[in-house]
Amino acid sequence: MSRFLLALMLSATTALRVVTRRTLTPRRAAMTMKEGATTVVVTGASRGIGAAIAKDLGAQGCNVVVNYAASEGPALEVVEAIKASGGDAIAIKANMAELDDIKAMFKQVASEFGGCDVLVNNAGITKDGLAMRMKPTQWQDVIDVNLSGVFYCSQQAFNQMAKKRKGRIINMSSVVGLFGNPGQANYASAKGGVCGLTMSNAKEFAARGVTVNAVCPGFIGTEMANELGEDMLEKVKSAIPLGRLGAAEEVAGLVRYLALDESAGYITGHSLTIDGGIAIGAGF
Ligand code: NAP
Repeated sequence: MSRFLLALMLSATTALRVVTRRTLTPRRAAMTMKEGATTVVVTGASRGIGAAIAKDLGAQGCNVVVNYAASEGPALEVVEAIKASGGDAIAIKANMAELDDIKAMFKQVASEFGGCDVLVNNAGITKDGLAMRMKPTQWQDVIDVNLSGVFYCSQQAFNQMAKKRKGRIINMSSVVGLFGNPGQANYASAKGGVCGLTMSNAKEFAARGVTVNAVCPGFIGTEMANELGEDMLEKVKSAIPLGRLGAAEEVAGLVRYLALDESAGYITGHSLTIDGGIAIGAGF
């Protein structure tokens, strides 16, 4: 994700504390594809991890809303790929930093698909800089998209899921939200906030059969990673116990489990890392 994340990985040695939360028995059986097409909203799905999630869930036969803010062409390509694999999809332009955009998107989801069954809050940005030099806009822009956007989307989605008395919300956090990272005070605060929001919403939404979990990726081999160059990538890999970067498709596989698998209907309030072992450190 950035040179700052590299610094985190090289120094991370603390195991993750995974807090087990009491979950409530769902009032209905977990969703299965046999009950009909599940409608999934994936924010920030025009590229990277979001595009991989959208395509993966589309290939499972879901109706997928491919959200984007600026990249219309790539979003439409994701829509076409989903249709070619057996799912259905539409692209909706909506800025996750704008509440009016978010409300309009969910209104369209209700009218076109009858409401949202699964929400994947994936959209995210970075505006890195040392804390003492961070400009107010750098701070606020990242909080607005990465944290406030997750809150408002969850609010809108829950409104639709509560009526169905079922639903699943998956929030894209980061290992940076668990450990912090120099140069990413804004990003770490937002991603850590997402983990707290995940637990609070899990407790509030459980009574309506809605689960809420977060996924915390480590270093995923996106276009951004390639920009680091070969030498830097080798150093990154040496700090990862599994010795390689993750793939967006691997994150998508975890999201697919949380979104669709029947047994995941009994998992709520957790932040699950998918990081090649960064959380446990590189060892000696
Ligand atoms: P990416 O390649 O930069 O893609 C970001 C996506 O978010 C794009 O589709 C972008 O679409 C969309 N987006 C950005 N701002 C938006 C906004 N205001 N409203 C709606 N959509 C917006 O990022 P990525 O690497 O796939 O990361 C996806 C998520 O995983 C993020 O939340 C990120 O923090 C998290 N994550 C990534 C890594 C990693 O190593 N890559 C590690 C940990 C966590 P437009 O171009 O249309 O704006």
